Amino acid sequence: MKSDKVIGEVFNGEALAQKGLLLQAVFDISQLPLTLSSFLQPRPHYSKYNQALLIGNAGPQLWSEFKQFLSSENTPKGSKDFPDPFDHFSAKLIEEHLEQTYPSLKYARLFPVFNEERNLPVGLQQLGMLAGWHHESPFKVGINSIYGSWFAYRGFYLIEGGFKPTAKLEADSPCINCETKPCIQACAGNALEQGTLDLPSCLNYRRQDTSRCELTCEARLACPVRLEYRYSQQQINYHYGQSIKLLKAQPPTLDE
Ligand code: SF4
Ligand code: SF4
Repeated sequence: MKSDKVIGEVFNGEALAQKGLLLQAVFDISQLPLTLSSFLQPRPHYSKYNQALLIGNAGPQLWSEFKQFLSSENTPKGSKDFPDPFDHFSAKLIEEHLEQTYPSLKYARLFPVFNEERNLPVGLQQLGMLAGWHHESPFKVGINSIYGSWFAYRGFYLIEGGFKPTAKLEADSPCINCETKPCIQACAGNALEQGTLDLPSCLNYRRQDTSRCELTCEARLACPVRLEYRYSQQQINYHYGQSIKLLKAQPPTLDE
């Protein structure tokens, strides 16, 4: 590639999609709502970037790639020892792809971050809504009619690009026409009794020694939408296990 900026091309993320990173959206930063971009303004080191790239996995494929990576003889020592090895693996895949496919492209990763920028207010769910990926489910995990609730944000990058911005994914909310709403009945902590998540009740329940939600969310499992994309039990346990570690490290708030 001769120029630093790719002008007008659609972002080529086919190789990422084959590894389970099926969701990819390019935004022009100038077109983002200020609520999503204003945190960049007092940080001049980001001013050269004109676009942003949001990447998500959907379905169980990425987890299979991760397991293969961990069991490979060529895997660098210590890859299992990060506190968040799946995040490191996802970032590695995305960045290897960017460097191979667009060697001149300059980028800065804002999520996941493993340094002092960890607390940047990147609005992943709001970006997901703009991309058409995210509709709110009663249990607050994002959902859409293509992948159900079985997708997640795996990378958010600022790029010096000239890609064609990605059209919104045409995927509506399956909750609108879900008459019986089995997720609500299935909530083990009775945190959905009002039809929407009572977060303090959910967190309080999850912290209890007798909780059935230490490593899962029974409401999410009860949703019948797009079961073919459901994560493996091992992957579900990993993600909820990561969140319970953070939860147990924080003192409960007065509301809980
Ligand atoms: S069970 Fe119905 S209401 Fe609940 S998340 Fe699934 S589609 Fe939405
Ligand atoms: S984690 Fe448990 S308590 Fe929280 S919403 Fe899911 S099922 Fe309900």
